[in-house]
Amino acid sequence: MAKLLNQGNSKTIKGEKYGYKTYGLHLSPASKSGFNVCKWSTAGCRAACLDTAGRGCMSNVQTARIKKTISFFKDRDNFINQIEKEIIAAIKSAGKKNLIPVFRLNLTSDLPWESIKHPSGKTLMEMFPQVTFYDYTKGLERMQSFVDFPERGKGKVWPKNYHLTFSRSEETPDSIVKDVLAREGNVAVVFRGSLPKTFLGYQVVDGDDSDLRFLDGKSMVVGLVEKGLAKKDETGFVIEPK
Ligand code: SF4
Repeated sequence: MAKLLNQGNSKTIKGEKYGYKTYGLHLSPASKSGFNVCKWSTAGCRAACLDTAGRGCMSNVQTARIKKTISFFKDRDNFINQIEKEIIAAIKSAGKKNLIPVFRLNLTSDLPWESIKHPSGKTLMEMFPQVTFYDYTKGLERMQSFVDFPERGKGKVWPKNYHLTFSRSEETPDSIVKDVLAREGNVAVVFRGSLPKTFLGYQVVDGDDSDLRFLDGKSMVVGLVEKGLAKKDETGFVIEPK
């Protein structure tokens, strides 16, 4: 199987100035491979997806992502075994550069890694409790599990080393955005042209400065300025300036 984790894209590489190195997994988003890895995707996010940004516009990169995605579904044990080996190698490699390794397994997918098991029966978060995993999700149920635990004593037991940021789409009512923020979760919002200082009464932080979402405070709107195909968005996925 080809290598699964990459050593970052133009966005994740910005974390190095803060001492972190992100290793990420690019699958083929939505149902492009024939398997759906983005259960909560919308027309707006699929059209604006960063899957085709940077090297993603090359056909060999697209083919590789499709092959990886098919392997995830058809050859799961080998796939997870290989990720385990690559995480071990990444931890060593980042350490040699005095960088802290962090892992984003949903660069272009929205899979519930908190419940995907290695053949040993453990999740990757359980196998590597010393490292941080982080992702964005459009899955409200995933986000609620993340923000519910442990303060509210309900929801699933969420891995302590897996940080989630909720990702707003054109189908997300403002009431849901406010609810996540009120529970001390963070919400990523794409804006046209530039970032406002606040959104729905909450502070907006610059999400383009780095990809290190686990360092954001609580109840933050993570503002992202539209890029690539998002510039053509007319669905409401990108928020227009007021
Ligand atoms: S959920 Fe994320 S990865 Fe999937 S299609 Fe939408 S933007 Fe792309």
